[in-house]
Amino acid sequence: MIEQQSIENKNTNNSDILTTSLYNLRQSAGRLELDDHIIARIAEPKEKIEITIDPILSNGETAHVKAFVVRHNDVLGPAKGGIRMTNSVTMDDIVGLSMEMTWKTSLIGVPFGGGKSGIRCDPASLSPEAREIIIRSFTRGIRRHIGPEIYIPAPDMGTNEEDMGHVRDCIAYSNGTSITKGCFVTGKPVILGGIVGRREATGKGVIFTTLAACEKIGIDITKARIAVQGFGNVGMIAAAWAAKSGASVIAVSDITGGIINEQGLDIDALREHVKETSGVRGFQDATETTNNAVLDAPCDILIPAATQSQITKTNADKIKAKIIAEGANSPITPDADELLNRRGIFIIPDILCNAGGVFVSFLEYTQETQREQMTYEQVEQRLRDRMVEKFDEVYNYSLEKHITMRQAAMDIAVGKVVEGIYSRGLLP
Ligand code: NAP
Repeated sequence: MIEQQSIENKNTNNSDILTTSLYNLRQSAGRLELDDHIIARIAEPKEKIEITIDPILSNGETAHVKAFVVRHNDVLGPAKGGIRMTNSVTMDDIVGLSMEMTWKTSLIGVPFGGGKSGIRCDPASLSPEAREIIIRSFTRGIRRHIGPEIYIPAPDMGTNEEDMGHVRDCIAYSNGTSITKGCFVTGKPVILGGIVGRREATGKGVIFTTLAACEKIGIDITKARIAVQGFGNVGMIAAAWAAKSGASVIAVSDITGGIINEQGLDIDALREHVKETSGVRGFQDATETTNNAVLDAPCDILIPAATQSQITKTNADKIKAKIIAEGANSPITPDADELLNRRGIFIIPDILCNAGGVFVSFLEYTQETQREQMTYEQVEQRLRDRMVEKFDEVYNYSLEKHITMRQAAMDIAVGKVVEGIYSRGLLP
């Protein structure tokens, strides 16, 4: 079959993320019986840019950094997706992540397409000055590919609000203006036109969908034990909101290792500890353990919120959770997904579970365009309503079609993009 081949041929890459994205698309294309020419359009990105930046850092050294920008699809609106800064990110990773963004924006119902950026360097090795120089060089390098109608970046792994402030400033500065016409970047500081609650949006959205799942499968959140892998933007907020909802967060990990306390960790105290020591290890009132032991901790809900491919066929059988809420993108490999499904574990797929960030980015985008200001309560209410509405839509579709939550989320999302392609017409 031509459509199978067109996806298989692209599956010769070194990126787990892209492999998983293509696998999910292939499955969905089969269920939706898509035409070959449509599959060819959505299996590959519309635009891929690789740049090299060589800025001189404040210590006099020259950095040599590769960076990538991908616009996967913009049928439903300008490409949207974060900037990932890690020392191992590849173009193929960014292609896979941008494809996930296409499905995520489609599913959550915001008028955006899918995009993503990557900067290959280790953020932990950079001084704040070096980091700012690299972010500004990256922004200048990709300037012509960013814009409210082209591609709007945001934070992702390894980047934060402050970095987005520098992106915004760099663009306004090169225009010779104080502000930009429309929204060029989201997740920036509130003082620069960012939106209240964006920082917490992804982690909170993870918990809103988790609460919805608990209701469906009959788990009392106040009696639930939760394990969280990753204690960055997404994991830390998800843990804090899980605790706020009455759950016991019993295990947490980051790159330094894991900690566990079956009576429940004090998340506020842990956040203070991480602020002081830059890692979860060494936290009092907890036993140190390994990262893997956190994934298979004796819990009801597992939130992988670190990075891709953490649950594989080698550890899937050890998972004890009844619900897995995918805070991270692509944390489960397709073979592990199958094993977990066979065991009846309820998985809230990434394109639904962690879509809260891009939903609130959309609110930031409209707020900036209209020069409006929303309150924290308004943002939270709209986020909660949208996450629950989309959870119910995916859940009901999965029941109706007898498919998993991931399959349902993919089919709804891909179906909307395909409808957009036909509605626009097939000629350029
Ligand atoms: P982040 O702030 O950089 O945090 C990542 C966390 O994961 C850090 O605690 C890091 O530890 C930890 N970590 C990294 N590799 C690990 C490993 N192998 N084992 C255990 N812990 C590990 O990133 P983030 O923004 O929270 O993003 C996390 C995931 O969520 C990514 O997959 C991202 O694409 C996805 N996501 C993020 C957003 C968003 O709004 N930020 C939105 C949607 C999806 P150290 O700090 O010690 O390095």
